[in-house]
Amino acid sequence: MSNCLFCDIIAGKIPSKKVYEDDRVYAFEDIRKSAPTHVLIIPKKHIVDLKHAQAEDAEIIGYCQLVAAKIGREHGIEDGYRTVYNVGPKAGQSVFHLHLHLLGGRDLTWPPG
Ligand code: AMP
Ligand code: ZN
Repeated sequence: MSNCLFCDIIAGKIPSKKVYEDDRVYAFEDIRKSAPTHVLIIPKKHIVDLKHAQAEDAEIIGYCQLVAAKIGREHGIEDGYRTVYNVGPKAGQSVFHLHLHLLGGRDLTWPPG
């Protein structure tokens, strides 16, 4: 996908701090950390966001959650972390390539702002 920041990160055209990669997903540190652990897990397939996802995308959406759980284990934050898909500008979505936020390493309040 042209003109997509996260597609460029996957392609290595824009540098990122890689946390995990396999044939389906890429995970990297958020450039503006909202928590001591703040990792973005993104499918290598360009999907705009959750509301644009199709039935065929169900597996990758769930798989991103499992990768988040694996990273959570490896980062020692299993006492409490949150996984979030922001959907739409009103929810704070600023990059239009589906990404799962993994946040942990501090107390997380509820409800979120
Ligand atoms: P959202 O606001 O849910 O769309 O999340 C987009 C996230 O991408 C934000 O938390 C940004 O800090 C993060 N971000 C933007 N540009 C970069 C970048 N070049 N490398 C890493 N994270 C980024
Ligand atoms: Zn993309």
